[in-house]
Amino acid sequence: MNTKLLTEKELDQAAAILREGGLVGIPTETVYGLGANGLNDQAVKNIFAAKGRPQDNPLILHIPDVSWLERYCKDIPLTAYKLAQAYWPGPMTMILYHKDVVPDAVTAGLDTVGMRCPAHKLCRDIIAAAGVPVAAPSGNTSGRPSPTTAQHMLEDMDGKIEAIVDGGPCAVGVESTIIDLTCTPPRLLRPGGITLEQLRDVLGEVDVDPAVTRLLGAGEKPKAPGMKYRHYAPKAPVTVVTGDPKRSAEYIAAHAQSEDGIICFDEFLPLFTGRSSARPVMDLGPAGDKEEQARHIFDALRSFDHTTVPAIWAQCPDTSGIGLAIANRLNKAAGFHIIEV
Ligand code: AMP
Ligand code: MG
Repeated sequence: MNTKLLTEKELDQAAAILREGGLVGIPTETVYGLGANGLNDQAVKNIFAAKGRPQDNPLILHIPDVSWLERYCKDIPLTAYKLAQAYWPGPMTMILYHKDVVPDAVTAGLDTVGMRCPAHKLCRDIIAAAGVPVAAPSGNTSGRPSPTTAQHMLEDMDGKIEAIVDGGPCAVGVESTIIDLTCTPPRLLRPGGITLEQLRDVLGEVDVDPAVTRLLGAGEKPKAPGMKYRHYAPKAPVTVVTGDPKRSAEYIAAHAQSEDGIICFDEFLPLFTGRSSARPVMDLGPAGDKEEQARHIFDALRSFDHTTVPAIWAQCPDTSGIGLAIANRLNKAAGFHIIEV
């Protein structure tokens, strides 16, 4: 199959492919998604095949407007509307009970479904033009870092899907926040673009699923099935170093081998580029700018796959705000191999 790169102007083509049961890479503000008609069982199954995704890992259903929620969900609590009012369209997925129209392929047989209305205008326009909800996980091959540009998605999906719509680089850079509204108190299943603090502003008490911050034990089951899988992993093993940025940079400078890859905050680039110009170094952004760090995290992890680095060391921000999402992605990429300095 020849994967077409479509422009914004060709959104009707993308919508038609989706409607007819094909697979399309769609830009969102978080990461690129691998979309299919969410009401078409076979089309949704094809997503799993293209990604090599485990069958028990459900997808998120994307809608262009909050008014579509009732078509697919039941027993919707008032808090869902409050959250939608505050943060939709935006990088937040709500877990709700679904109606029978939602195929098992989307939900992996669960009685709940993840619903999201993306902020990316072109994405909403594609879904509205298709006239169907779009089921989509991130557009990477399973296990790899999520794509934040159309080019990254093409690296993983060329020849496997009908088309990718290029909507520019993703503005947020990490996947949506997942909040489960079927339990009391509501529970954060995955940190993302909408922060825990923002959720608490609307909901009051919010629990944090243990899978967000630590490796689960053999008998433990996360509520978001996707959180149990090794994820976001580049080919080389990753070590995450947390703590005061200056100390973590100095720790890495003292312990990394000269051929190891480095992910660091901008301020500390000279510590690494000074010693050996051959060393692959990726800057995440300024230590004080987590939004910028979020935009670069997957690109940084992915970039080392074009090199032969035997190991990767990464500085990690503190967990306030979107730092929780950055730390979660880095820690998962590292299999929770974390050093605190
Ligand atoms: P992705 O955005 O590629 O990571 O895939 C969607 C994520 O949403 C996965 O981590 C899933 O486990 C999670 N998810 C989707 N539907 C549900 C659901 N009904 N309950 C809990 N988690 C879900
Ligand atoms: Mg994913």
